[in-house]
Amino acid sequence: MQQRKTIIILSLIVLLPLLLLSWQSWKMSKDDQQVNSARFENLVSARLDRIDSLVQSYFEETQLKLGLMIPQWTLSTDGVRKIIKNDGSIRQIFVIDENKQRRLPSNNTALTVDEQTLINRLTPIWRDPQMLFSNQADAQANEKMKSNTQQQYSKKSAPRISSKISPALKSARHYGWYLWHWEGGANLIYWQQNHDRTIVGVELEPIRVKSDLISRLPNTSAADSSSDFRLKVLDTAGHIVYQWGNYAETESSDAQQKYALSYPLSSWSLEYHGKPFTPSSSSRVSLLVTLIGFGLLIAGLAWFLYREQTREIRLATQRVQFVSQVSHELKTPLTNIRMYAEMLEDQLEDEPQQRRYLQIITDESQRLSRLIANVLNFSRTPRIHKRNFDINSLIQQSIAHFKPSFDAKNITLMSKLEAKGEIFSDPDAIEQIINNLLSNVEKYAAEGKQLDIDSEIQNEQLILWVRDYGKGIPRSERKRIFQPFYRINSQLTEGVSGTGIGLAIARQQAEKLGGSLVLADVKTGSCFQLTIEVKK
Ligand code: ADP
Repeated sequence: MQQRKTIIILSLIVLLPLLLLSWQSWKMSKDDQQVNSARFENLVSARLDRIDSLVQSYFEETQLKLGLMIPQWTLSTDGVRKIIKNDGSIRQIFVIDENKQRRLPSNNTALTVDEQTLINRLTPIWRDPQMLFSNQADAQANEKMKSNTQQQYSKKSAPRISSKISPALKSARHYGWYLWHWEGGANLIYWQQNHDRTIVGVELEPIRVKSDLISRLPNTSAADSSSDFRLKVLDTAGHIVYQWGNYAETESSDAQQKYALSYPLSSWSLEYHGKPFTPSSSSRVSLLVTLIGFGLLIAGLAWFLYREQTREIRLATQRVQFVSQVSHELKTPLTNIRMYAEMLEDQLEDEPQQRRYLQIITDESQRLSRLIANVLNFSRTPRIHKRNFDINSLIQQSIAHFKPSFDAKNITLMSKLEAKGEIFSDPDAIEQIINNLLSNVEKYAAEGKQLDIDSEIQNEQLILWVRDYGKGIPRSERKRIFQPFYRINSQLTEGVSGTGIGLAIARQQAEKLGGSLVLADVKTGSCFQLTIEVKK
């Protein structure tokens, strides 16, 4: 039982700190993971931001270039045709006059095939040239929204073309870009409105735009060979326009981050594909090793404590076994000594000196027998054997055993023994209880000079009071005197032999007989009250 308790306590000592530590470490590593994964996301965002800036720089440059060129142009059918012929990056040019009427390509001249398709392509613009402006307004609103969301990830926002106005463009009232989808392709138009309110639109050659943009972006061989990512530029329909990077993605793998490009390519997007962020396994391993080490350390300590404790228990058990063995061996010779002394006493005629010697031998052997009975009772679980016996003769007999010692110490015995007749209980156990109580009076309360022993039977219970008029037992000690091996440290116990188990055994026996042994409240001396069930 004791051993099980020890094992449970030691296991708790090992497990509780381990669990607490594991929980703390798990929480810390989770927090770390979150911080690192946020950092990783920021890095990816910054990378995408840089790519967006590269794309933006293309539009800025083209805008500047066209802004400088347009005022130099001769805006006639021939002039425009010549410009288109000489500049491979321009697909078509159109002019809308201040009355919102298309001036070029002019309906008054014979149109080339390309001019005719331009007219077909841009029909909505001829109907409402304001569309060019609205597209720009939308784009700027998008820009604002986007830069706001991006700032959550990266403090550095990409330079926006709308924020840079070149001196050449100051001559233009309005200018901007227009992304126009036609037959699955994206067509970019740069337009600017001059002070005379005419709008000049320049449709760029889509293949050229694409190749110019691609030439600005990194390529796979230039991408860091150790890097494990793939970046994709997707058009409005989600088709890959260009991609680079070493990451070999699986078919099902989703983009880790998506990023809408800035105006005017706001409907295009960038996708980052790469290995998802995984927390470094080395930190987990070192945490695990620390935990295991710590666990082993406290487990070792607990094992050591357990070994020490069981060693103590083993030694104590061995000692108790030894004492009980010796006590048992002493029992027979002691009974013989007592028996022969009593026989000799009967045969002695009138020889007072010798009788006195014999009486001492009998008394001492009786005392030794009580001591041995107590030791044996304490070291082995006492067994109760109930039977019918006469209670009054048992009490009288016990008193008679002590009579000579009480006489020798001038203790007057006053008894009112009203418990009479046969009762059903264990006479040996009751005798042992009475002997222990009387022996204590003899040892500690002789100076009171009086001993009252009263008995009665009430409601099928035997009640016995043993009251002395000695120094008594201090209130603070009243509970403790019933604990095994406890002796009050006072003048009373000084020089008086005792083991401190008498009262503990007496109370244990009383409880086994279905009763109790308590210290009653009295003014002088002490009064022990024994109550025992005597039901048949
Ligand atoms: P022991 O007599 O071997 O010391 P006990 O268990 O019988 O052990 O008693 C425990 C302690 O209680 C004693 O050491 C003593 O100090 C105190 N005690 C017991 N009975 C009396 C009494 N009648 N008067 C005063 N003190 C007592």
